[in-house]
Amino acid sequence: MPSKVRTQSPPQYSDYTRYKSFLRIEFGHSCTFCDIREPELGGVQSFCVEHYKPQNRFPKLETEYSNLLYACRHCNQWKGSYWPGFKQRIARLIVLNPFLHFIDKHLDKSQHAWRGKTAQGRWNVDKFRLDKPMRVTQRTDRANVEATIATLTGNLEKAQAGLQIAQRKNARSAMSTFQIEINSLTGQIDTLKRKIRV
Ligand SMILES: [Zn+2]
Repeated sequence: MPSKVRTQSPPQYSDYTRYKSFLRIEFGHSCTFCDIREPELGGVQSFCVEHYKPQNRFPKLETEYSNLLYACRHCNQWKGSYWPGFKQRIARLIVLNPFLHFIDKHLDKSQHAWRGKTAQGRWNVDKFRLDKPMRVTQRTDRANVEATIATLTGNLEKAQAGLQIAQRKNARSAMSTFQIEINSLTGQIDTLKRKIRV
């Protein structure tokens, strides 16, 4: 059972780059391999249309949507035109593809440094540097941003409840204080969300 099924069905294009807008949606604006999101790596221009079966070996699949993945520029480079030969297939040196493989069987993502659970998973961790300090830093930063958003959202709900009470009492000064707080918190939350989400 694979991890994902395709949700997008674009028309046939002769230029594979035109599939990028479909792949962004298909992959939730994040890299197939390392899960980094567009805002965490400078935006959409840092992401590529990745040919799972490389173009040089499988030219007929160059514009075949089912062969395309969405990858950040780092993972795109690390995969390059790799394709396993007979020996590599025996040794399970195969790039994980969520449409072919059940990713959770191969990768443990419970810690910020991902670990391989199978030979194939361990090889993918090495190939895509999924346990390296830069990955850990990025995932720790995201977790911190998520935690701050959760705290600020809690504060926002309290301020909104406070505003309602003040309105019922027609306490104008308190209403104004709560409204200022609500505006400030909403702005802070939006700014943080833009760091990690599209
Ligand atoms: Zn990546």
